[in-house]
Amino acid sequence: MKWHEILIRYGELTTKGRNRKQFITRLRENLRFSFADIPDMKIRAERDRMYISSDKDEDMDELIKRLPTVFGIHSFSPVAKCEPTLDAMKELAINIMKSIDTDGKTFKVNAKRSDKRFPLDTYELQLEMGGHVLSNIPNLHVQMKEPEIELRIEVREHAVYMMVEVIPGAGGLPVGANGKALLLLSGGIDSPVAGYYMMKRGVRIEAIHFFSPPYTSDRSLEKVKDLAERMSRFGANVRLHIIPFTEIQQVIQQQVPENVTMTSTRRMMMKISDAVREEIGATAIVTGENLGQVASQTLESLAAINEVTSTPILRPLITYDKLEIIDVARKIDTYDISIRPYEDCCTVFTPASPKTKPKLEKVVYYESFTDFDEMIKKAVQNREIHTFPKQKQDEFADLL
Ligand code: ATP
Ligand code: MG
Repeated sequence: MKWHEILIRYGELTTKGRNRKQFITRLRENLRFSFADIPDMKIRAERDRMYISSDKDEDMDELIKRLPTVFGIHSFSPVAKCEPTLDAMKELAINIMKSIDTDGKTFKVNAKRSDKRFPLDTYELQLEMGGHVLSNIPNLHVQMKEPEIELRIEVREHAVYMMVEVIPGAGGLPVGANGKALLLLSGGIDSPVAGYYMMKRGVRIEAIHFFSPPYTSDRSLEKVKDLAERMSRFGANVRLHIIPFTEIQQVIQQQVPENVTMTSTRRMMMKISDAVREEIGATAIVTGENLGQVASQTLESLAAINEVTSTPILRPLITYDKLEIIDVARKIDTYDISIRPYEDCCTVFTPASPKTKPKLEKVVYYESFTDFDEMIKKAVQNREIHTFPKQKQDEFADLL
């Protein structure tokens, strides 16, 4: 099937009133980012529709294949075009109907005519085209109200446009339309899913990872980089900040009683994250934490972690069941990376019985013997920064 262009419906964007222009601009930029390998793609934005196209047929197929992953798109329809003659229209209608599954489906033709000089009026056009389709495509049943297949025909002065498929988009909002947040990315199953959900709500993500060599290996770092790379496929580049964390973890082991080391570790992670967040101009911190999954994820523990900053700490997965999270991880293709065996900086140092209800005063008291602020500053300064995907780094520097 030779498609002329793809009509994109914004969905949620249209409800956003005065922000609409900014959202459309963002979607346009994100499409350029996602389809950087299709430089010939043309984009035309109208008030509540966008049209994309390319002169190459294979590009059109690729666009249709990959569009369902771009956030901010409610649905889209490939559109075909022909000369404004009845013969050409009939031929195109049959070709379009043959490109989809029609067997046993209900059907109607919906015609619009902006060129009033066309010899048939809307009603006659629907009858003529509907009759032609029915006599050429077997096992279709006409149904005027909510048919499964609606062949839309628009007659303009110089051309006729037709579409039939309405393909669901990824929904959500264009990445970047809702600001920026810093994601604590561990290499586990949960944090990439948490990042995915934030991106779906239009939040640009940078990631931070705490790395404790030699207790954690380069392979565990590779895994986190692969996850960041995979997350950049959700429609925007992702910067990864790698924090050298060994020294701080060792000091915590020495200074803090074993059963609250976990809480202290989390608090230090949060302090470092907050410093990086401020530097990169992000507004919130995101984690993959989930209530009750492990000992450190109790309400008391979350309260002790939150105490180090007034920055909003968002936990999109807080109420999810593990199986639900795994389902999403599979769907977004992060699961296979996440389950590669590796040592987490936290698992290496995990105490035998961490306190499920850490007393904040106690944690603060034991931390007070060490100048953590100085160590935090050093860790932030010595961090390594990578941008994913690698090859798009320079081209899209202006979008950061
Ligand atoms: P995940 O599957 O995301 O690792 P988890 O269920 O294993 O989560 P924890 O290991 O307790 O739970 O981690 C909770 C959250 O803390 C993670 O989702 C992540 O946001 C953050 N986190 C933990 N370890 C690290 C790390 N080494 N670097 C960055 N963030 C981390
Ligand atoms: Mg983990």
